[in-house]
Amino acid sequence: MKEEIFAIPLWDAFREDKECPLCVIEMDIEKKYIDRLLDGSTVMDVEFNKKLKDYIFCENHFRKLFEYPDKLGLALIVARLFSYEIKDMEKEKNRAKPDHSLVNIFSRKNSNEKSSNKDKECYLCKHIDKTMSEYIETLVKLWEKNKEFRALYESSKGYCLGHFHRVIKQANRLYDKRVKEEFLNLNYKIQLENMERLNDELNWFIKKFDYRFVDEPWKNSRDSLFRSIIKLTGYFIDDIK
Ligand SMILES: [Zn+2]
Ligand SMILES: [Zn+2]
Repeated sequence: MKEEIFAIPLWDAFREDKECPLCVIEMDIEKKYIDRLLDGSTVMDVEFNKKLKDYIFCENHFRKLFEYPDKLGLALIVARLFSYEIKDMEKEKNRAKPDHSLVNIFSRKNSNEKSSNKDKECYLCKHIDKTMSEYIETLVKLWEKNKEFRALYESSKGYCLGHFHRVIKQANRLYDKRVKEEFLNLNYKIQLENMERLNDELNWFIKKFDYRFVDEPWKNSRDSLFRSIIKLTGYFIDDIK
C-alpha cells in the first residue's frame, strides 16, 4: 500500500517527460508541506510547536513561506522561533558566569552544540528529504519489478545532477549484483546522453546570438538555458520544463 502511494506520482512524473522527474515530485511535495504547515491546524498543534525548538528554516524555504498569501500562520511560527532563539541566547549569555567572559565560552564551545540557529536543520528540508528517500526507494523497486515502468524509464531524460546522484546511491540497495550493474549502466547512459543533448541545444542557443545565424530556426533551443540550469542544479523557480 505504502509503495503504491509513492508509485502513482512516479508514473505521472515520468510521463510528464521533464528534465528531472524527481524535481517534479519534489516541487509537489514541497508545495503540499508548505500548505500543510501554514494551514491553521499545524500552527496551533502543541507537538509541532514543541518540535520547532530544534529547527529553523533555510533561506529558500523562508522565502517560499513568505510568498504564501496568508501571513498569519507564518507570523505565529516566526514568533515561536523567535521566543526559542531568545531563550537560547539568554542561556548562552548566562553560561558566561561567573567570570562574565563571553570570549571564554566561545573558545570552550563544543562544535556539536546546537546553540544557534545556524546549527539547526531546516524543518522543511528535513521532511522533504525524508519523503524523497521513500520515493527514490520505490523508484528503484519499480524499475526492478515493472517492465512497463522500465520502458518508460529508458525513454526518460535523466535527472538533475543532485537527484541523479541520489538515485545512484540508492541503487546500492539492489541486492542482485547483475541487476545493480544493469541499473547503474542504464542510468549513466541516460544521464550522459541527455546532458549531451542539452549541451547541443544550449550551444545552438548561443549561436543564435551571432548575426550569421539570426535567420536560422531556434530548433529546441529557445528554453535550453532554463532547462540546462535545471539539469545542473534542480528546479530553481516554481516551474519546471
Ligand atoms: Zn531533480
Ligand atoms: Zn529548507
